[in-house]
Amino acid sequence: CGVFGVIGVPEAANFVALGLHALQHRGQEAGGIVSYDAGTGFNSQRRFGYVRDNFTKQSLMETLPGELSIGHVRYSTSGGKAPVLRDVQPFFGEFSMGGAAIAHNGNITNAVALRRELIERGSIFQSNSDTECIIHLMARSMQRTIPERMEDALRRVEGAFSIVAMTRTKLIGVRDPLGVRPLVLGQLGGGYVLSSETCALDIIGAKYVREIEPGELVMITAQGVESHFPFRRQKPRFCIFEHVYFSRPDSIIGSRSVYETRRQIGVELAKESPVDADLVCPVPDSGVPAAIGYSQESGIPYAMGIIRNQYMGRTFIEPTDQIRNMGVRLKLNVNRALIQGKRVILVDDSVVRGTTSRKIREMILDAGAAEVHFRIASPPTAWPCFYGVDTPQREKLLAATMSEEEMREHLAVDSLKFISLDGLYRAVGETSGRDDSSPQYCDACFSGEYPVKPSDQIEQGFEL
Ligand code: 5GP
Ligand code: SF4
Ligand code: MG
Repeated sequence: CGVFGVIGVPEAANFVALGLHALQHRGQEAGGIVSYDAGTGFNSQRRFGYVRDNFTKQSLMETLPGELSIGHVRYSTSGGKAPVLRDVQPFFGEFSMGGAAIAHNGNITNAVALRRELIERGSIFQSNSDTECIIHLMARSMQRTIPERMEDALRRVEGAFSIVAMTRTKLIGVRDPLGVRPLVLGQLGGGYVLSSETCALDIIGAKYVREIEPGELVMITAQGVESHFPFRRQKPRFCIFEHVYFSRPDSIIGSRSVYETRRQIGVELAKESPVDADLVCPVPDSGVPAAIGYSQESGIPYAMGIIRNQYMGRTFIEPTDQIRNMGVRLKLNVNRALIQGKRVILVDDSVVRGTTSRKIREMILDAGAAEVHFRIASPPTAWPCFYGVDTPQREKLLAATMSEEEMREHLAVDSLKFISLDGLYRAVGETSGRDDSSPQYCDACFSGEYPVKPSDQIEQGFEL
């Protein structure tokens, strides 16, 4: 998901809408905005679909007045369940000392246990969302102020959270102690901005100030930023997959350009797994920077062998079985004239179920390619993510049940190579690779080493 907040700027919700639009890649299912205005109090609007289709209407934006506003774009990780509006964030709660709204990116790994305990003690849940636990924990806290209640609540929460929240007078930002998901601070005129990624600061012309640190809670008023560290300090474990796929290539993470990291992954891939071929082609859009790096390092020409239809929204793949079975063809097409008779290296960011790769191989051979070589910009995805990235159950992950050679046979390609975990660490700037005794990143979906015990999942039978 994506989170964004603005304080100290007139019509703050308009900036939040623009910020969310720039974070749309982090969640396309739904979006919501809350604002506060002394005259009308807290106001909230939540909608299914893209930001641009909802939060551009003047009649809607007029209902969100004020100089303080937060928003959320949602990407469902509650696997398979039909989406319902009451699960769309931000969530709002009314306390004795005023209201608070909260938007969360990540996933709480002990939410099932917390929810059970809270319901037993009388809490009334309105949604299925893990995030709502935070509101109820805050309601039960004995602390005086809302920020103190939030600290109290978050000390009981396990897992990954980057949070943007607001009271009547403050914008609040928090990152979990490991800093799994990103969150940055910016400045806009006399006010401040919190955002999942820097690309959303650019769209509103805000100045990048710094990252919120892992384990940090910032309380922001128009006067300034106050910083707290309410959790026990731990060594950070940022999500390495943000670098590979999730973040936008024009964002900066930890002073590194995401684009440059992805290009470097391609360079590493070309060094680790060279192959003689005529063309290097990306699977658009996620494979583009790595394909550029692979081409530059190998000297094999880069070309657009697959063209993406830019108008293909995710929600379009609904209507009939007949259309659904066409799958990836709705989004991607082979550039036949280029591919015919060529030995092609295809670069993609990841193989999850393997359905995309299989369909693409089929299309590219149909178009007359002489050979197809897959190069993947991440190590084999053999474990599910429990920290906010939607991956299927372990059994459905190709790499959970097959060796690399078995995957190559299954995909029926001439060769298949993944970047090594060490190669990936080098590409993100860790020159001596992964520190196996104390890894610098979360890489659980590749290594199976979960930095936070997925306790709800273990209770439901998941085996480490
Ligand atoms: P597969 O077809 O192997 O199941 O999925 C691989 C494709 O899904 C890749 O092209 C990759 O770009 C995309 N992908 C990787 N991670 C995610 C994710 O977290 N969410 C979505 N929607 N797509 C992803
Ligand atoms: Fe990121 Fe993978 Fe860790 Fe999930 S398991 S937080 S996707 S590195
Ligand atoms: Mg892709």
